[in-house]
Amino acid sequence: MAADIPFRRDISFEYGQLEEIAPGLRRIVARNPGPFTFRGTGTYVVGTGKVAVIDPGPLQQDHIDALTASLAGETVTHILVTHTHNDHSPAAAPFKKAVTAPTYGFGPHAGGKRGEIGPEAGGDWDFAPDIVVKDGDEIEGDGWRFQAVHTPGHTSNHLCFALAGSGILFSGDHVMGWSTSVIAPPDGNMADYMASLDKLLAREDAVFWPTHGPAITEPKRHVRAFIAHRREREAGVIDCLKSGIGRVDAMVGRLYVGLDPSLRHAAGRSVLAHLVDLIGRDIVACDGPATVEATYRMKHV
Ligand SMILES: [Zn+2]
Repeated sequence: MAADIPFRRDISFEYGQLEEIAPGLRRIVARNPGPFTFRGTGTYVVGTGKVAVIDPGPLQQDHIDALTASLAGETVTHILVTHTHNDHSPAAAPFKKAVTAPTYGFGPHAGGKRGEIGPEAGGDWDFAPDIVVKDGDEIEGDGWRFQAVHTPGHTSNHLCFALAGSGILFSGDHVMGWSTSVIAPPDGNMADYMASLDKLLAREDAVFWPTHGPAITEPKRHVRAFIAHRREREAGVIDCLKSGIGRVDAMVGRLYVGLDPSLRHAAGRSVLAHLVDLIGRDIVACDGPATVEATYRMKHV
């Protein structure tokens, strides 16, 4: 693609170690590397003494044990969850039991059905936050305060957390440095995602810390590149339709040259997300429900 995304993949860490990465900010990376998680889930710890934990991570006992042991002698007062994917929220339940702290999140997983083969590590249908957090809500602890920024698109319940007075935004999977985000219907929504990118452009955060990979130190440049990338992809989808390519798998073949086969399913969901968006804007039509198996066409030729 022509959009010049300034990817950032340089990250140094040791699995199982809670390491300071900025003043008052620590991170421990779970050993769940993969095509959607990069080197693994980064669980953040904010504050000292009385701390907040962001995204406890996957249900991996070694990670939960290491996180809990690293915080022995401190008090976890808040457990924040950016969204309900299996690499982010499932550890919240055992970790909450271990440290006796409430969980904060937008709401339970939505879209699709339990057990459905989803994108990435799939949806976590078991998580329900103790405290429901809406856009703009403030979460205050000992020496730190977050503002929640609802950023639907990757999932409908995705939250970013801005750490007041620091310029830091924990961007979850909404904006990552190492890769674009997977936008997979039914829970993933391209129109929402684009609006959520615009929402971050209107903010003045100095640095994003995503759940996977290193910090993004030029957030606006990064977000603008993602917007350009999706617009190009959308133009590619429209070009396919105009040249009579109406099926998702054929579009993936044309638009994603040299794609890693393990990402083919995700690419198909991403194309579907564009098609659903284009249908919503009355540009594209499809007979029957909009699925990866359906055939699509331009509405007005
Ligand atoms: Zn995710």
